[in-house]
Amino acid sequence: MTSPQTLPDTQKAVRWHPPAYDIRVEDVPAPRIQHPDDAIVKVKLGALCGSDLHIYRGHGGVDQVHTCGHEFIGEVVALGENFRSSVQGRPALYSSLKVGDKVVSPFTVNCGECHVCRLGYTARCPEGFLFGSPALEGGQAQYARVPKAGGTLFNLSNPSTWSSALPNDIKQKALSDISDSSLLLLADILPTGVFAALQAINHPKVAPVITGKPWPLCFSKDDISGNEVSFTKSDRVLTVVVIGLGPVGICATVSMLDALATRNVPFQLVAVDPNESRRQKMMTVYKTIDAAGKGSGTFVVLSIDEARTQVKEMTNGVGATAILEVVGNTSALDLAYELVRAFGVITSVGVHGAPPLPVTGRDLYNKNVSLDFGRCPARAMFPPAFDLLVKRQDVFGTVGEPASLIDRIVDLGQATESYRAFDKGEVGKVIFDPWK
Ligand SMILES: [Zn+2]
Ligand SMILES: [Zn+2]
Repeated sequence: MTSPQTLPDTQKAVRWHPPAYDIRVEDVPAPRIQHPDDAIVKVKLGALCGSDLHIYRGHGGVDQVHTCGHEFIGEVVALGENFRSSVQGRPALYSSLKVGDKVVSPFTVNCGECHVCRLGYTARCPEGFLFGSPALEGGQAQYARVPKAGGTLFNLSNPSTWSSALPNDIKQKALSDISDSSLLLLADILPTGVFAALQAINHPKVAPVITGKPWPLCFSKDDISGNEVSFTKSDRVLTVVVIGLGPVGICATVSMLDALATRNVPFQLVAVDPNESRRQKMMTVYKTIDAAGKGSGTFVVLSIDEARTQVKEMTNGVGATAILEVVGNTSALDLAYELVRAFGVITSVGVHGAPPLPVTGRDLYNKNVSLDFGRCPARAMFPPAFDLLVKRQDVFGTVGEPASLIDRIVDLGQATESYRAFDKGEVGKVIFDPWK
């Protein structure tokens, strides 16, 4: 074990206090190695995220004081004794991660060694925890303890330990060129946006439009030229709606545009948000993306009422084939159900609270709607998210510009005010520098 004596006794951390709207910056004990699989990370940057607001507002079903935040990037400062070069048969980081390595952590811990992790469902590893919850202290602090660190972390100092579709030289160059604030988007919001888009575009309900073959021939490799059904040009146009244009919604939209462009799918994409400044941001982002990143389909950014009318018009009253619901409340889901076509899919990646769903089994039956819910397996989604991050530095690489996803980087002293302003929709994504 690397000597933990280099760690201070106490650190500054952003703490949530029950019942709601109470964020304090406090001195708390600095973390220590508790298990041989642990790593301690000195946090360089920790981000504030839309899903932090569920706990902030008291909707998280949580009643314990804890350190907030599940998005952080930093440097390894201590490793448990299971990190040794002689380790075999475990995730590569147990034999290769070193003190001093730069790492980004997915927002949940995962072991990387069980059936669930092997299948890529890393967000639901039975040994997993969510950072920034009563079960595991978060990353809006100077230091964070990462359990199962060999299965969880990404070592940015040694990219041979993770895959990417990019050629090695481009991958290496990207890692030296891209800023830490941009790489931090890989902790949650960019993988989550990519997850929403890829779940939708690969969903069986979307297959007829993508393949040009009717259900169920869309699942067959057979030639269908003898089939009596032939699609019109407009049958081949995929209509997608993104509901919610916060930072994750923008990531989902950018990712969907990229997926449609690279697959050369004709499309109509409707991005919806009731907040005008968020709509403006989305439009500025769209204008910033080059032609290769947005294909040749129709793209509109609309208010809720405008979207109701527009989706009807665009689809002759049929509705959209895929809806990405990136808000996580019942009114967003209600709107999703209203806008989706019969035989459509709703992919929801927002964190839903306790209220019952606004749709009944009968509603879903009557429209043959697939409802796809849940947390992004950020570790499994890291490679495609990294590739999109590299490609879309025009949007993901800057801070505080009109097309930037990140609005500002502030010190921990501004945490309380940042939570308030983010909750009110007055600022976009805020990042904390705990050493500023
Ligand atoms: Zn997050
Ligand atoms: Zn696992």
